[in-house]
Amino acid sequence: MSRTYYIAGNWKMHKTRAEAAELAKALVSQLKDGKHRYLVAPSFTLIETVAPIVKGSNIRLGAQNMACEEQGAHTGEVSVLQLKDLGVQTVILGHSERRHNYREDDALINKKLKLALKHGLEVILCIGELLEEREAGKAEQVCETQVVKGLEGVPAAELANIVIAYEPVWAIGTGKTATPEDADAIHAFVRKLIGKLYGTDAAEKIIIQYGGSVKPDNAAQLMAKENIDGALVGGAALKPDTFVPIALFG
Ligand code: PEP
Repeated sequence: MSRTYYIAGNWKMHKTRAEAAELAKALVSQLKDGKHRYLVAPSFTLIETVAPIVKGSNIRLGAQNMACEEQGAHTGEVSVLQLKDLGVQTVILGHSERRHNYREDDALINKKLKLALKHGLEVILCIGELLEEREAGKAEQVCETQVVKGLEGVPAAELANIVIAYEPVWAIGTGKTATPEDADAIHAFVRKLIGKLYGTDAAEKIIIQYGGSVKPDNAAQLMAKENIDGALVGGAALKPDTFVPIALFG
């Protein structure tokens, strides 16, 4: 496969500044010879602490969300300009916890995504179905809608700054992982969809990460699949002992 594996750690709402600094330092040191692409996405309050630690390393700096407006009267929100000011390079958008716990819909996610691209950020666009949607045979349909609406109005030239993370909601933080075959089937479906929307070259190049209870003991089997180009890791990203073996697989 010509695509470079991309392994990202979503730290969610965990860690104090001291704990984040300790984790970031350990990752910089233990991943320095890693041959894949890496990212960590700490909470907003930790970004300024983590930024100088990962600067100059092979670990990108990410954020877990951002506002849909550049600036203004938006109490409690964080702007793309503020993220850029801290050195953030990538933003995770449409995570299932944002979609389902905080009612973010495809239109809002699309607005954020276009704003992030306008300011030169890479976007990890998360998609994925709920358990009842999978059981009703609607996994592909749900993912198609989330991709089509999420990328609405995004020109082909911007696609190099988009990563898609397929995260079946029933597998996030539950210890249940999609089988490598089931995950690969959705990844193949999404890649084909990108082909229809943007052409075969874009489809061949786009990175599609898998997320949902990725652990050291299942990461290699998942990423061995043709269409799985990396991982978006939650729980296992919180400790070097679990993140590093995933990040150094292969
Ligand atoms: C996530 O946060 O995107 C995630 C996949 O979490 P976990 O690895 O804990 O399932």
